[in-house]
Amino acid sequence: MIEFRSVSFGFDDVGVLEDVSLSIPDGEFVVLAGANGSGKTTLLRHCNGLLTPDDGTVLVDGTDVEDDLIGARSSVGMVFQHPRDQFVAATVGADVAFGPENLGLERDEIDRRVENALAAVNLAGREDERIDQLSGGEQSRVAIAGALAMEPTHLVLDEPFTGLDEPARRSVLSRLEALAADGTGVLIATHDLRDVLGLADRVVAMAGGRVVVDDPPETAVEKLEGLEVRVPRDRSTIR
Ligand code: ADP
Repeated sequence: MIEFRSVSFGFDDVGVLEDVSLSIPDGEFVVLAGANGSGKTTLLRHCNGLLTPDDGTVLVDGTDVEDDLIGARSSVGMVFQHPRDQFVAATVGADVAFGPENLGLERDEIDRRVENALAAVNLAGREDERIDQLSGGEQSRVAIAGALAMEPTHLVLDEPFTGLDEPARRSVLSRLEALAADGTGVLIATHDLRDVLGLADRVVAMAGGRVVVDDPPETAVEKLEGLEVRVPRDRSTIR
């Protein structure tokens, strides 16, 4: 469970998050919607202590993130908007192994995690390939594998479809759907709900740093007008 309790945060005294309270239970697929600049990325960066609240608390599995940064970073896998900026190694296997290596795990355990994480994103056996020679969709899946290799209880993704073509989006989406079905909590920030609404258990929408909608998808879409969020034209895609 990721829990925000009355979180406020500002950059240089300019308020960005205003009194945000929000819970993401294990195994839920939550879409975080909102216009560019509404505060989504800033909120996500609080999930593992990349930012810390000015007021309020963020808890991961009941522990204040500030009290156990390593615990939070092991429990919450983050995938950033431009995966290219996230890679630390030249090859797929070395990059996915980086997180578990930093946890100080045994080599066998690291190899097991890398193998499982790559299998989970349909990249099994591609350890030795160079990341810069992969397609955008494959790079996104390597970034997701890197997060999965930490065996997190939650996966947090910031606009993971930016710059991906349709087949790549489909491929990433189907992996996310399978992961959520297997019990990983998914929190995905986007200003475009068209791809993800059908998978969501809940839609949380932000405007001006506040949570303004927190509803199941069917009722949330009725409340998104004026928030600069793209919704599917065909509402039958919402389950
Ligand atoms: P979103 O992810 O919804 O597009 P962000 O969280 O990136 O929104 O941004 C929310 C607000 O915070 C914006 O007004 C943005 O300009 C501001 N902001 C984001 N990052 C920084 C930063 N590093 N320094 C100053 N202001 C920032």
